[in-house]
Amino acid sequence: MVPPTEAATRPARKRKTRGEGQWALGYREPLNANERSKKDDNPLNVRQRIETIYAHGGFDSIDPADLRGRFRWWGLYTQRAPGIPGARTGTIEPEELDDRYFMLRVRIDGGALTTEQLRTIGEISQTYARDTADITDRQNIQLHWVRVEDMPTIWQKLEGVGLSTTEACGDCPRVVLGSPVAGIAADEIIDATPAIAEIAEKFIGDRSLSNLPRKFKSAISGSPRWDTVPEINDISLVGVVHPEHGPGFDLWVGGGLSTNPKLAVRLGAWVPLDEVAEVWHAVVQIFRDYGYRRLRHRARLKFLVSDWGPEKFRQVLEDEYLGRKLVDGPAPETPTGARDHIGVHPQVDGNFYVGVKSPAGRVSGSTLVEVAKAAERVGSRRVRTTVEQNLLVLDVAKSDVDGLVSDLAELGLQADPSPWRRSVIACTGIEFCKLAIVETKERAIALVHDLEKRLADIQGDIADPVTINLNGCPNACARTQVADIGLKGQMVPDGDGNQVEGFQVHLGGGLGQDAGFGRKIRGHKVTSAELGDYVERLVRRYLAQRGDGERFAQ
Ligand code: SF4
Repeated sequence: MVPPTEAATRPARKRKTRGEGQWALGYREPLNANERSKKDDNPLNVRQRIETIYAHGGFDSIDPADLRGRFRWWGLYTQRAPGIPGARTGTIEPEELDDRYFMLRVRIDGGALTTEQLRTIGEISQTYARDTADITDRQNIQLHWVRVEDMPTIWQKLEGVGLSTTEACGDCPRVVLGSPVAGIAADEIIDATPAIAEIAEKFIGDRSLSNLPRKFKSAISGSPRWDTVPEINDISLVGVVHPEHGPGFDLWVGGGLSTNPKLAVRLGAWVPLDEVAEVWHAVVQIFRDYGYRRLRHRARLKFLVSDWGPEKFRQVLEDEYLGRKLVDGPAPETPTGARDHIGVHPQVDGNFYVGVKSPAGRVSGSTLVEVAKAAERVGSRRVRTTVEQNLLVLDVAKSDVDGLVSDLAELGLQADPSPWRRSVIACTGIEFCKLAIVETKERAIALVHDLEKRLADIQGDIADPVTINLNGCPNACARTQVADIGLKGQMVPDGDGNQVEGFQVHLGGGLGQDAGFGRKIRGHKVTSAELGDYVERLVRRYLAQRGDGERFAQ
């Protein structure tokens, strides 16, 4: 027998854990500048200063702590000053990166808009945002070139039609994703619309939830297609039928991408529709009280969930926040096939909905106005945004479908896109984002045109579109790690040894059946200019070598 070493015989010393800045454990004193700023003044208070001071004094009158911090709680980010190359991102002072204009994010809970609301966003864009508009992959619409002077009028117009920018950004509950076909899809398990409306009404703008450790992302959908990317939200409620209690939701927590991706985990609990808002509120409070605040990069809920595990998380949820046990529930069936609602589909009421693809989310205010008009011409009053940066027009009579499809196609919005057009999404990128290293939107649009030409001969061979997600930096706003081909913007060497804009490739990520993160393959770095060549080579090789029924992610 080997004698125990001296170290092994010493009584185990309790490992000293450094505080993570959790309020519930007594760490109330701010541990970094972001926490200090939120403690100094509730970020929601900045709305009043914008209306009474900054809108009159202009950009130069804005307190820097408001400008780069609290403005976000009202959907406002300074946009990137034009002409600063990606190579300089992260190396220069914030003042140099800041333009004197703002990106404004309009939150669209559940992706649900009336045509009047869509037209209003479009008209605001035409008047105050140089006709810019991007549909985001979180169902919001973003405008650019907005001046602080115009914000009071913009809010008045948005709020006049029931829209808001409240907590569209910042360390707070962001937009609640919802199924774009809620209430109209034949295969729907349960319509989550009332729960999303209750959360928006009761809790968005609630000051007790406006200082979270970081952003909090929610997804609530009763669609069996998992059309709100539930795998990668902080909280997801996913439609499922309980064998005794009927339709309700399965509760997941702790998903998220960025630089340390994690898939959400099931808590094994079934939540009925009328308890969704209460359970959602309890989970947000856990995040507020127990979430890590010391280091920004560990301040998302996924780190707490990882450390606690699902059992402890559920126990704290039930014992400390709900004061009752949740009902155990079954796992929902993992969906197969497309989630994007592109094309013409029947609704339960005999009408149809038309799902169209936007070019990597890039539209314009004028396009939004024209979509609203086209929908109203056929008697529709309802439009939806999707997490694939698409638009849906609901409630179309069969006899009007063809006319609407052709009107939308004239606006560049296709109901029958090529597999390449259908499967590309892109984040904001260097045009407006201060964190960006490379261009994304225009690159994505050019890539689609390029692939439609290069791969025209094999278009019919692609049963499941190969998803291509372009991101301007490692933050993965356009879901780098869960695409077939995930592209992360960075400077890469070209053939002559120069550092130029390009991408690190992550291959074979996916959601649903193939849920998992793409592999970062050493050597798979591609310059922006060579992207078309690279994707063509990859797709042709996949088609030549795939086994029977093998999908790209496998
Ligand atoms: Fe900006 Fe990076 Fe997010 Fe793209 S991924 S929008 S570049 S932060």
